[in-house]
Amino acid sequence: MKNIAVIGAGTMGNGIAHTFAQKGFQVNLIDISEKALEKGIGTITTNLDRMVAKGTITDSDKQQTLNNITSFTDMKQGVSGVELVVEAATENIDLKLNIFRQLNDFCSENVILATNTSSISITQIAAVVNAPQRVIGMHFMNPVPIMKLVEIIRGYNTSDEVTKAIMDLSLALGKTPTEVNDYPGFVANRILMPMINESIETLYNGVAGVEEIDTVMKLGMAHPMGPLQLADFIGLDVCLSILNVMYDGFKNPKYAPCPLLVNMVMAGKLGVKSGEGFYDYSESKKAEKVSKQFLS
Ligand code: NAD
Repeated sequence: MKNIAVIGAGTMGNGIAHTFAQKGFQVNLIDISEKALEKGIGTITTNLDRMVAKGTITDSDKQQTLNNITSFTDMKQGVSGVELVVEAATENIDLKLNIFRQLNDFCSENVILATNTSSISITQIAAVVNAPQRVIGMHFMNPVPIMKLVEIIRGYNTSDEVTKAIMDLSLALGKTPTEVNDYPGFVANRILMPMINESIETLYNGVAGVEEIDTVMKLGMAHPMGPLQLADFIGLDVCLSILNVMYDGFKNPKYAPCPLLVNMVMAGKLGVKSGEGFYDYSESKKAEKVSKQFLS
């Protein structure tokens, strides 16, 4: 594979485009919003500048990486001639099903269709396209250029050939692919989200404060970041939506979101992206400090 399309230029999409382009792939980056494309390319440029400053890549590597990315607002044009599409648009089931219906119309059946969804069923997405054996989950972690894991999720119909192609491709990107089956939360979020939810429950029950809970998990369990701070980075709305998918999917109360998480989301406290979650990110310096600590 040499030519790929990435749908969505947000947090994950720009990171995925960056990662492929740096490895020499021709990347068509597609978003419905011109502004999101500009912002996405801006983020890639800033992240490449940081790598140049650190001496990880040269200035000419940076230029080559940027030259490998072309922006599109028209999906039909953007997916023309590609061998793989990685969908990283907003986490919304109707929106994703609509995108995959369009991909079914625009791409021939030998094009692999991957989705970076955190929680939506791969099998359900695959059901709207012909040849569902070519649909697969390619769940990158944030920040994509730095995090090694790609959770590879096989839908009910995903073929061995497509799974092998995506495993090999992930290795070629310098990542560590890990194959899992398609059940709610897959593996990463099935284990992570109950831990985050229990941390919120611990706070809600008044057992300890935000910093105390995070300190116990950072210093006691060697986690690079406490679970409440991690929840702020992921987005509290995203955490709530993933917990609800698992709660609905398993019909098991152990996945029921903590009422404090529900209240915070209803109050618009979504974490870093809204300026406040379990921590206060309103002073730009404070937020910068946290983000650098995460990225280094
Ligand atoms: P985001 O909100 O930062 O970006 C989503 C982008 O999709 C936006 O730029 C939006 O304009 C674009 N978009 C919406 N509809 C579109 C359409 N029809 N066609 C093209 N572009 C469209 O979201 P994100 O955090 O990057 O998440 C993207 C996906 O990655 C989601 O499925 C999410 O669950 C998953 N994910 C997120 C994280 C994370 O930490 N943020 C981690 C792993 C996976």
